[in-house]
Parts: sequence; structure tokens; C-alpha cells
Amino acid sequence: MSFDLTRVRADFPVLAREVNGQPLAYLDSAASAQKPQVVIDAESHFYQHGYAAVHRGIHTLSAEATTEMENVREQAARFLNAASPEEIVFVKGTTEAINLVASSWGGSQLKPGDNILITAMEHHANIVPWQMVAQRTGAEVRFIPLSETGELDLSALPSLIDSRTRMLAVTQVSNVLGTVNPVKELVARAKAAGVATLIDGAQAVMHGQIDVQDIGCDFYAFSGHKIYGPSGIGILYGRKAMLDQMPPWEGGGSMIATVSLTEGTTYAAAPWRFEAGSPNTGGIIGLGAALSYVSEIGLEAIHQREQALMRYAMDKLSSVPDLKIYGPQERAGVIAFNLGQHHAYDVGSFLDQYGIAIRTGHHCAMPLMHHYGVPAMCRASFVLYNSEEEADRLAAGLTRIHRLLG
Ligand code: PMP
Repeated sequence: MSFDLTRVRADFPVLAREVNGQPLAYLDSAASAQKPQVVIDAESHFYQHGYAAVHRGIHTLSAEATTEMENVREQAARFLNAASPEEIVFVKGTTEAINLVASSWGGSQLKPGDNILITAMEHHANIVPWQMVAQRTGAEVRFIPLSETGELDLSALPSLIDSRTRMLAVTQVSNVLGTVNPVKELVARAKAAGVATLIDGAQAVMHGQIDVQDIGCDFYAFSGHKIYGPSGIGILYGRKAMLDQMPPWEGGGSMIATVSLTEGTTYAAAPWRFEAGSPNTGGIIGLGAALSYVSEIGLEAIHQREQALMRYAMDKLSSVPDLKIYGPQERAGVIAFNLGQHHAYDVGSFLDQYGIAIRTGHHCAMPLMHHYGVPAMCRASFVLYNSEEEADRLAAGLTRIHRLLG
């Protein structure tokens, strides 16, 4: 498969704009990715020609919208290689997916003295929901520590997993370090100990082919907006046997079988039991277009291209004086760094003047900042539409800031 960067860049209208008199170099896709025209068109077409409330509708527009929505469920199942569309729950994003599992599975399964195992590199979205349910149920949250290079210290695993460990929830790719965790091995080790597993795929799905059956996890979560789809929509994959045993977490329309004021309520089957209220149908349709878009380019072609670009960018940045890069050499998607003693915000503001958009701050990973003893980092992310020239501009910009600020 060949990868045509010029064509790919032309698919994203915003990449043609200027910022502060310079061509935009958008290196903040790990926070949220730009949208190709096909995604914008799919959502806009729905609102122009086919908008209606889904489910329960007998009229044509409602029936069409319902079919389109359920088609995307099937598409998402194929995309992740789930065993069936009933294993796909539409959610707002990764955050909601993890909250759903923590609240529904955790709330019904966890007992005082149980423990949940996460890692020290998790995004707050895969920390806080577990802390909240632990507090509610009397469970404990443990974490796998990190090495200096930002990889999981798996030698600690035997002392962390015990007979009371119920869940291992881990990110596939760190949103700060780009570390690619050995999720298949981790899931196998958890399974052998009878531990349920959740993979946070927010920073992984856009970088390569995901196969949830091959990973073997019980749950897999990702957000549409990071894979070139709309914001406000995401996917929770849940193994059918798990979803079937989980109680609803939000009540309302669409998630019920029957409702009686005197006899109480019975619930719909999974996954609909977890989708209370009117869904974000436009977002779902946009997400379908985004999954088609990356699938047509090919996830393997995207992976190869991004890996080559990442190696180029790492090499370029190694020539910037006083630049500290965090994380392992082999990585996916992101490069986090600090320039001398300069605060990340100052560096980010200067780069913005040069038309270069990066992220600065704690990246919703305060425990990771603590691990490195810094309040903040700069983070440049590289995805399918980024170029070697943008990596050159980042390195040149940082070198110039170093010269100006000393
Ligand atoms: N996990 C990881 C690893 C992330 O990078 C993010 C987004 N920064 C999230 C979870 C949360 O995703 P969302 O805000 O789309 O729910």
C-alpha cells in the first residue's frame, strides 16, 4: 500500500489555513484531530437531508436514521474485530466509556477489600472513575509503576495482582510518552489470574489496526474526535458475556423494555441498555465516515507512514540544544519534552507565534508529571497528515526559542 501525503493533506481543509502569518503546523492531534472533508460532509448531509430522531419512529426519515446508526454499530464492530455489533456501545467518548464500566461493572461487582490495577501513566479518565467507584465500594486502586524511560515496570506485577484483584485497566498508548504498552501480554496475565480487563484505546486506534479478540480484553474504549471523527461520540467495546451481566448505569428512554409506575421497569438488552436518551446520531454518522476514511487509506499504511515520520521527528529534535525528551525511543504518536528550564506555556506561546500548534500542561496525567518531577510538559503529536517539513519547523522553532530565551 502506498501513502500519498499530499492527497491526505488535501482531504483536511483546515490544514490550508495560516496562523500568525505562517502556514499552520498542527501538532496537537493527540488532544483532538482535524476532520477530513468526508466526515464534515457526512454529518452535514445527515442534517440537510435525513435528520430525524432514531428508534420508535415509524416515518421514513426516522427509519433511515435508525438504519444508518445501526450500520455504524456494525461498522465499528468490524473495525475492532468484535464478535458482533451487540458488543458495541455508543458513548460520548473514552471518558464516558470508562465511567460506564466503572459505574456499572464496578458498582455491581466490587466488594470491600477488592482491588483495581491501573498504571502510573494513565490519563485522568482512566484513574478518577476507578477512584470514585473504589470509594463507593470499599475497593482499592493500585498502580503499576514506571521505569525512568516511561515503560511499565512489569517486574512489579506479581506483587500487585492477588486473589482480590478484579480489574486491570490500562492504556494501550500513553498520551504523554507515546509508550506502546504490551496489552496482549498484560491481558493474558490478568486473565490467567481471573482478572477482568479494560484497554483505553484513545491514543491507539488511529495509529494501527486494533483487534479486540486478538488482544483478548473484556472492554476497549476510544473517542471519535481523535480518529478524525466528530467530538461527543465514542465507542465502548464490551465482550458480550460481560455486557449481558452488567446493570444499566443511566436510566431513561431507549434503554427500557417496559416501564410501569407500580411494577417497576425492565431493561432492554445490551448494548441498548447502556444508551439512555436520544443519541448523537449526527456524530455517529460522522464517526462512521471517519472509520471508513482511515480504513480506505489502510491502518497498516498509516502505521508505517507515522512510524517513519516519528523516527524523523525524534532525530530532528535530538539536535535542539537543552531539549529533554520524555519516554522511550520507540513510540506512537507523541513527543513530550521540555526546553531547558523554560515553562512549557512560554515555549508553547512562542511556537504559536511561528504557526506551530502544540499542547502544553499536565496533559491530564498529573501522576506522570509527578513521576518526572515537573509541573508541565510540551507535547507535539504526529499523525497521518503531518509532514517532515513540520518536524523541521518544530526543531527550528525550538532552537530559535532557546537562542532568544537562553
Ligand atoms: N485516555 C487517553 C489516553 C486520552 O489521551 C484521552 C484524551 N486526551 C482520554 C482518555 C479521554 O478522552 P475523551 O476526552 O475523548 O473522553
